[in-house]
Amino acid sequence: MKELEERIAAEGRVLPGEVLKVDSFLNHQLDPVMLEHIAREFHRLFADAGITKILTVEASGIAIATMTAYVFGVPAVFAKKNRSRNLDADVYSAVVHSYTYDRDYTIMLSKRYLKASDHVLIVDDFLANGRAVEGMIQLCEQARAEVSGVGICIEKGFQLGGRLLREKGIHLESLAIIASMEDGKITFRKTE
Ligand code: 5GP
Repeated sequence: MKELEERIAAEGRVLPGEVLKVDSFLNHQLDPVMLEHIAREFHRLFADAGITKILTVEASGIAIATMTAYVFGVPAVFAKKNRSRNLDADVYSAVVHSYTYDRDYTIMLSKRYLKASDHVLIVDDFLANGRAVEGMIQLCEQARAEVSGVGICIEKGFQLGGRLLREKGIHLESLAIIASMEDGKITFRKTE
């Protein structure tokens, strides 16, 4: 998605630890027009997938999921993060290793909001090693819901997640794929 790549090139800041900051439009301040364009692109890419629910994880995914759900005309639901191991009986849960905080946390989703009849589109802001998406896939497996696709705004193509998910046969679409960001210079790989 050219518009997203241009925005990343203009406003993205590369931090130590191969972390890209896009706080001016996606991760802190939010640009609703950009979010709408992202949602419409996900809709174009997954229009035929029979999606009934958009799933993400708090916090950065929520705005993306909300706008995407609005365009698809379905509900959005977000997995909650909780450090406690004292889990409610009525939740699906999975342990995820956080890329940005380098620690494990538990994600939880009420059983009310994910059903075996659901065809789920998982969305998130970034894909690095794929742990957040893997956790959300586990929630879907627990619910016996179908993962119909994964939509990512920014995939860091030099990390493992994209390859792992594609090798599993998951329909993954990333709107911008970063090939490298060495010495602060961001280059992109071709997308669909
Ligand atoms: P993964 O689970 O794929 O290793 O990492 C993806 C998750 O970590 C995303 O939910 C995202 O919030 C966070 N993340 C990973 N890499 C980056 C990055 O370069 N920048 C930002 N802002 N978040 C990242």
